[in-house]
Amino acid sequence: MLKLFRREQYLRVDTLGDRYDVVIIGGGGHGLATAYYLAAKFGVTKVAVLERAYIGSGGTGRNTTVLRANYKTPETIAFYRASYQLYATLGQDLDYNMLRSQRGLLWLAHSEPQLRNQRERALQNQQFGVNTVFLDAAQVKATCPELDMTGGGKRPILGAAYHPPGAIIRHDAVAWAYAMAAQRLGVEIHQGIEVTGLDIEGGRCRGVRTNQGPIAAGKVLSAVGGYVTDIANMAGIRLPIVTHPLQAYVTEAYKPVLDRIVASADLHIYVSQSARGEVLIGAEIDPFTSYSTRSTFPFLASCSARAIDLFPFLAKLRILRQWTGLCDMTPDYSPLMGLCEVENFLISSGWGTWGFKAIPASGLAMAELLATGQVPSLIAPFALDRFRRDRAVPERASAGTH
Ligand SMILES: Cc1cc2nc3c(=O)[nH]c(=O)nc-3n(C[C@H](O)[C@H](O)[C@H](O)COP(=O)(O)OP(=O)(O)OC[C@H]3O[C@@H](n4cnc5c(N)ncnc54)[C@H](O)[C@@H]3O)c2cc1C
Repeated sequence: MLKLFRREQYLRVDTLGDRYDVVIIGGGGHGLATAYYLAAKFGVTKVAVLERAYIGSGGTGRNTTVLRANYKTPETIAFYRASYQLYATLGQDLDYNMLRSQRGLLWLAHSEPQLRNQRERALQNQQFGVNTVFLDAAQVKATCPELDMTGGGKRPILGAAYHPPGAIIRHDAVAWAYAMAAQRLGVEIHQGIEVTGLDIEGGRCRGVRTNQGPIAAGKVLSAVGGYVTDIANMAGIRLPIVTHPLQAYVTEAYKPVLDRIVASADLHIYVSQSARGEVLIGAEIDPFTSYSTRSTFPFLASCSARAIDLFPFLAKLRILRQWTGLCDMTPDYSPLMGLCEVENFLISSGWGTWGFKAIPASGLAMAELLATGQVPSLIAPFALDRFRRDRAVPERASAGTH
C-alpha cells in the first residue's frame, strides 16, 4: 500500500566522489527524473545530482502543479501527452503518494477574439486526439457552478475550452519521489553543492568545478531551471533564453468548493483548490527579466481583484502565502533539450512556466540520450540548433493563461 509522502525516510547522505559517469547539475524535477531513469531504464548508476540548495527548492517546489496535454503543435502535443501518461502511473511506479487529482481544466473566454481562440483550441486538440471540447456559457456554468458568469458584472463569460484530463499533483512529492527512487538504485544526491565552473578541454566537457572541489564526469547535464544562462556561460555557450520571475499565492484553507482548474486568457489568471483546501492563484510572468524571487503587493492586489471577479467567495478569504519562482523563457515558448556545441555537455532547459508537467517525459528522454548518445525522436524537435535551422516550435498554449 502507498505510504503518505514517505518523508520519514530521509535522503541518504553519500560521500562526494571525484568521478562519475554522469553529473547532473540541479536537483529539481528534471535533474532528479533524469537521474532516476538513467538508473531504472538504462542501468547507469554512477550518477551524481549536485544541488546547491535543497532538492525541489527551485521551480519544482514553487509551481502551481497543473498537468495537462492540450497543446497546439504536433511536436508539443506528442511530448506533453507522453508526459501526462507517465504522470498517470507515477505514484505507483515510484511507490509514493503524490496526491494526483484529475479535475478538468476550463479555459474561459470573455471576448469574441478569445471565444474564437478557445473554439480553435478545442478543434485543434481534437484533431491531434487530445480530449478538449468547446462549451457555451450554459455548459460552462454547469461544469463549474461556483463561477460568477457575469465576471463581476464587468467581463461576462461567453464560453470555454474544456480539457477533462487537466489534473493537479503535489509538486514537492514529485521531487522527493524521484530522488528517493533514484537513491534506492544507487544514484547519489548531494545537496548544498554548488557548481561554480565547467572543465572543458578541446571542445569537450570533462567535469565540473564545485564549492567542494573538482569532479570528473563522462557527461554533464545542466538542469538548473532559471539559472541556465549562468551554467551555459561557464561552457561559453549563449542560449536564446531569458529569465523572468513568476508569482503565485494561496489563500487560507477553505471547505472544498472548487473541483475544476479554471484559467482565463482574457483575465490572465488561473485558479484551483488544493487537497488542503487552499485556493491557489497564478498568473503571467512579471514583464521584466530578473533573477529576483521577491514577491510584490501590486501582483497580489491586481490578481486578487481579477480572481474575485470570477469567484466572489474568494473576497472572504485571507491570503496565507505568496512566493516567486524563476522561468527560463525561450522565444518560441517550447523547451530546449539535448546536445550543445560542447561535447558531453547537455542541457534540459527552456522550461519557462510550463516545465513541471514535462518532468517525466523529459527525464526519460534525456536519460536515453545520455545513456545511448541517440536523440529520442520525441525530443528531437526541441534541440538548440532549431533556431539556427529556422525550425522554431511556436507554442502559444504553453503559458497557463494563453
Ligand atoms: C509560480 C510558478 C508556477 C508554475 N506553474 C506551473 C504549472 O502549473 N505547470 C507546469 O507545468 N509548470 C509550471 N511552472 C514551471 C515549472 O515550475 C518549471 O518549469 C519546472 O519546475 C522547472 O524544473 P527544473 O527541474 O528545470 O528546475 P528547478 O526546479 O528550478 O530546479 C533547478 C535546481 O538547480 C539548482 N541550481 C541552480 N544553479 C545551480 C548550481 N550552479 N549548482 C547546483 N545547483 C544549482 C537550483 O537550486 C534548483 O533547485 C511554474 C513555475 C512557477 C515559478
